[in-house]
Amino acid sequence: MKRSKIIDLLRSGETGREVTVMGWVRTRRGNKNVAFIALNDGSIIHNIQIVADLQFFEEELIKKVTTGSALKVTGMLVESPAQGQPVEIQAKEIEILGEANPEAYPLQKKGHSLEFLRSIAHLRPRTNTFGAVLRIRHALAFAIHKFFNEKGFVYLHTPIITASDAEGAGAMFRVTTLDISNPPRLPDGSVDFSQDFFGRETNLTVSGQLEAELGALALSLVYTFGPTFRAENSNTPRHLAEFWMIEPEMAFYDIHDDMDLAEEFLKYLISYALEHCPDDLKFLNDMYDKELIERLQDVINGAFIRLTYTEAIQILKDSGQKFEFPVEWGCDLQAEHERYLVEKHFKRPVILTDYPKEIKAFYMKQNEDGKTVRAMDVLFPRIGEIIGGSQREENFDTLYRRIKELNMNEDTLWWYLDTRRFGTVPHAGFGLGFERLVLFVTGMTNIRDVIPFPRTPQNAEF
Ligand code: ATP
Ligand code: MN
Repeated sequence: MKRSKIIDLLRSGETGREVTVMGWVRTRRGNKNVAFIALNDGSIIHNIQIVADLQFFEEELIKKVTTGSALKVTGMLVESPAQGQPVEIQAKEIEILGEANPEAYPLQKKGHSLEFLRSIAHLRPRTNTFGAVLRIRHALAFAIHKFFNEKGFVYLHTPIITASDAEGAGAMFRVTTLDISNPPRLPDGSVDFSQDFFGRETNLTVSGQLEAELGALALSLVYTFGPTFRAENSNTPRHLAEFWMIEPEMAFYDIHDDMDLAEEFLKYLISYALEHCPDDLKFLNDMYDKELIERLQDVINGAFIRLTYTEAIQILKDSGQKFEFPVEWGCDLQAEHERYLVEKHFKRPVILTDYPKEIKAFYMKQNEDGKTVRAMDVLFPRIGEIIGGSQREENFDTLYRRIKELNMNEDTLWWYLDTRRFGTVPHAGFGLGFERLVLFVTGMTNIRDVIPFPRTPQNAEF
């Protein structure tokens, strides 16, 4: 089925030749002499206009050209007399590839709410908004691989099913083939997981970091980019139960190198989207968020602010601001605190470092004060935490002591500890939540609207 993509015809349409396009009808209007059909094939946000002279087409056929139906159209590509479109097609042949009964097709009129569109996630990619979001999402995913490839990082595929329950990043989804209504039991009544598929308890991963560290301690520079799962029952506009995470891990990096890389990375990705997705960004800017493009440019043009958690707590306490969760040294920062720092106080992205060790993971490098660790979180306007990272504890004794202090099960971590036994080196890394990035770049406000098929509590329909 040979066809021209609409993007190519609109971008560099050489007129005066016959072309074939295929796509979905967005609208049909006209009068008794002529029909104007707006056709979209997802290659670009814009439609191409098909002009059908009705004396050449059966009325029965034109009646089936309804919003949502799929067409194959052959005709002459000509300059368009209409404003705002360089070319149009004078139809010679129209074939209906697939009808869409107007009584039943849910995307009739424009301007459906995002909430309604979530309930038809199987069809929402056909809207301008989701077309734009999905193309931007793709561009960002591609740019991530490009960035790391150009820097000599190795893309490491870490497992999705994991037996280490010790990462501490969040509640996990169990993976099992046992009969849950009647599992085998040990004499003490607990479930006998030795009879499970892997001979042990397994879960979906909450992070590829521990395995990424193994890779970094051999290949120096690695990154993961894969799905991640958290069974937290947090119904917020910034949390998914299944999301994609990018986790670079670098040997011979300290926390400053780590922050430099995170800042360069985010700026690269945003620049890439500005350069490669101008039409989609302009649409989202016009329709949803008039400051979107300005905000993106703002992030690129200027350094991120860097300060310690302790300094940030002081700023929040001195702010006179009433927060829902009061701030005290030692507390985990909430989105409201993060956003105050970024949006009100500094009016720039912020990187906070040196968090209290109690609120951070066991593997973070401990500072000499005995209280804080070399963590770094990147905070963005409208999002709050977009990246969480740290320098890792490379010293065996210090790391082992922390594992014991936290009563963690070292039996499932022996392989991780081995890296500190054999040729350990300073290293660091971070995790970027892909959907939080897409949220920021698209200006959407709910994370459910930047992934094709969101997984959230009580929702796994599509
Ligand atoms: P938060 O405090 O916002 O819940 P976190 O501290 O639990 O996040 P990390 O474990 O540090 O998150 O994960 C690294 C990154 O992954 C975060 O900076 C964020 O961008 C992203 N992330 C974490 N949890 C989720 C989630 N449930 N849905 C989408 N992205 C997430
Ligand atoms: Mn975090």
